[in-house]
Amino acid sequence: MSNKEELISQGYKAYENDEIIVFWKPDLCEHATECVRGNSKVFDVSRRPWVDLSQAPASEIAEIIDKCPSGALKYEFK
Ligand code: SF4
Repeated sequence: MSNKEELISQGYKAYENDEIIVFWKPDLCEHATECVRGNSKVFDVSRRPWVDLSQAPASEIAEIIDKCPSGALKYEFK
């Protein structure tokens, strides 16, 4: 099973483009909003889907996800 399949089986949702896959598990989210503070164009809770990877370089998105305190957000570079 790939990492992506494993995380999806654990309840993560996946958002991806050519460079990165972002995973998010709603149950784990503590709503600490580190992600929204990091870049409110990528992470916008009023939008569906709330993650838009076209709004910033993959490297910046990864740096923001590194600050997520709960493990609700994860990523994998392609
Ligand atoms: S930083 Fe992590 S825990 Fe905080 S709102 Fe974003 S996804 Fe949820």
